[in-house]
Amino acid sequence: RFLRITIMPIRRGTVQRGVIAVLSDVTEQETLERERREFVANVSHELRTPLTTLKSYLEVLQDGVMSDPELGPRFLRVAQNETERMIRLVHDLLQLSRIDSNQWRVEKAPTSLAHLLRQVKERFQFQADERNIALSLSLVEPLPPIALDRDKMLQVFDNLLSNALKYTGPGGKVSIAARMDGPWVTVTVADTGIGIPAEDLPRVFDRFYRVDKARSRELGGTGLGLSIAREIVRAHGGEIALDSEVGKGTTVTVRLPLDEEARAADAGTA
Ligand code: ADP
Repeated sequence: RFLRITIMPIRRGTVQRGVIAVLSDVTEQETLERERREFVANVSHELRTPLTTLKSYLEVLQDGVMSDPELGPRFLRVAQNETERMIRLVHDLLQLSRIDSNQWRVEKAPTSLAHLLRQVKERFQFQADERNIALSLSLVEPLPPIALDRDKMLQVFDNLLSNALKYTGPGGKVSIAARMDGPWVTVTVADTGIGIPAEDLPRVFDRFYRVDKARSRELGGTGLGLSIAREIVRAHGGEIALDSEVGKGTTVTVRLPLDEEARAADAGTA
């Protein structure tokens, strides 16, 4: 724990009669301050890396590689990928900073989760086909409409699907499933990919935490996807958890509370 001692003299006239020592526990402040410093250091590092790469690729292009028919386009592609990742990083950072501000709210409206998940699957179908990954969606119908911020929840599933595809090799499987679970709706995104070592599991939702930094970077990751997903799910009163086994695959489970109003509306339309 961090303790701060403040000593104040007690005077009567010009004579010092004693002192008062105030001992305060500043552990929480210290922790916040340390986290803030770490965050700033992380952001700087995360931005400097792609900028340095960009700079060196542009330099060699300028030094004549540009006219090389094979290396020229390849180096330009690297420069473009790094730029795109940087844009994603800044976008994710802005979103986190919005989440951290107290004006951030989820705008919930009754939403068909089935429809939303079909849309997510469609978005990733092309990418899955291209990488020879079998993408499936299983819905145990009927799912009542639930109160969701559609755009934000889309982002959660976008992040989960993008991870599942990123960390699964050709020939693998990614399965999305949704079912009712008492007062909850449970959605799982399971893959047969590389998995996560047990010792890394407790930290994967931390900002910037990546099991394999180089690999994540190469695949265009920012290390912020899961932490943003967790913030959004929590803002819906839900929970997100991740289970994984190295070499076997990963399953992310999102549990969302069924909203009473939405349930009543569903009963009305049934
Ligand atoms: P990133 O942009 O690096 O993917 P995330 O916050 O989305 O960042 O995920 C954090 C880390 O968790 C990833 O870098 C990766 O190491 C691990 N991870 C997340 N999802 C999966 C998955 N489906 N399979 C294997 N590892 C995963």
